[in-house]
Amino acid sequence: MSSIGIIGAGQMGAGIAQVSAQAGYRVILSDVDTERAQKGKDSIAKLLGRSVEKGKLDQAAADATLANIIPTGDPAAMSECALVIEAATEREDVKRAIFANVGKHLSPDAILASNTSSISITRLAQAAPDPKRFIGTHFFNPVPVMQLLEIIRGLATEQSTIDYVLDYAKKIGKTVIVAKDSPGFIVNRILVPMLNEACFVLSEGIANVVDIDAGMKLGANHPMGPLTLADFVGLDTLLEICKVYLDATGDPKYRPAPLLMKYVEAGWYGRKTGRGFYDYSGPEPVPTI
Ligand code: NAD
Repeated sequence: MSSIGIIGAGQMGAGIAQVSAQAGYRVILSDVDTERAQKGKDSIAKLLGRSVEKGKLDQAAADATLANIIPTGDPAAMSECALVIEAATEREDVKRAIFANVGKHLSPDAILASNTSSISITRLAQAAPDPKRFIGTHFFNPVPVMQLLEIIRGLATEQSTIDYVLDYAKKIGKTVIVAKDSPGFIVNRILVPMLNEACFVLSEGIANVVDIDAGMKLGANHPMGPLTLADFVGLDTLLEICKVYLDATGDPKYRPAPLLMKYVEAGWYGRKTGRGFYDYSGPEPVPTI
């Protein structure tokens, strides 16, 4: 099978590298330097090791997956890749610099993809060597567990580019949905306003944290209540996304809930800071209000 390049060996890049290597692709995994890329590979080794311990994976398969992953700090190593997926820090200047840099080394028919969750694919394509061969591949966290791959078609993306990524998705066992380039694409466009609305419902005193979460779990069959999920996503991240949608569309329906802004001002970002709509300092999360 051909080689895949992954740029950024953090949470998402490592996950994409893992599922690609498991499917038999040779994966060139890069980060700002080889040490960081190796750290990404180490995190994959840890996850695979746990699966082996639990008897979900045999040692030979884990070894074969790891052998397929080549960590590097040098984007020139991607020159033979037919597909390169960028999963670096969510900053437009960082991503643009990466595309300019790796673009110098890619073959003319290589496809470049971005895992961005909020930046316009059509705009990012301007920094890529060929906007026709540029596409959004939005994976979900944690990548080895989540079934979905959302593909985003930029204004200039060619059908042959989409077809190539559809084939890749099939090989790594993901189910694909295709979206036009628009803030939030499909899933976050629907999910984020719902989480924000849950904050409004709480702040208007319509119900408490426990009942809002129980309502959506038991009444809409969601596996997790919206306030629990907001704490998982990070309230700071949620607020940023609401602002991006509001800026991009000017539509007041994306106005962030004042309570959400207050929590972020207080540094209550959710799980990562130990407090959000729940307090995580004890053995079980407890509602904070
Ligand atoms: P992360 O912070 O875990 O990883 C980002 C990695 O990019 C880091 O290892 C960093 O060193 C590396 N990096 C920064 N600049 C680089 C450069 N110039 N060259 C190579 N590597 C560089 O972040 P993440 O959560 O893995 O997110 C990565 C991307 O995936 C972002 O665009 C994010 O919006 C998107 N995304 C994240 C999630 C999520 O739930 N975390 C879900 C979907 C999409």
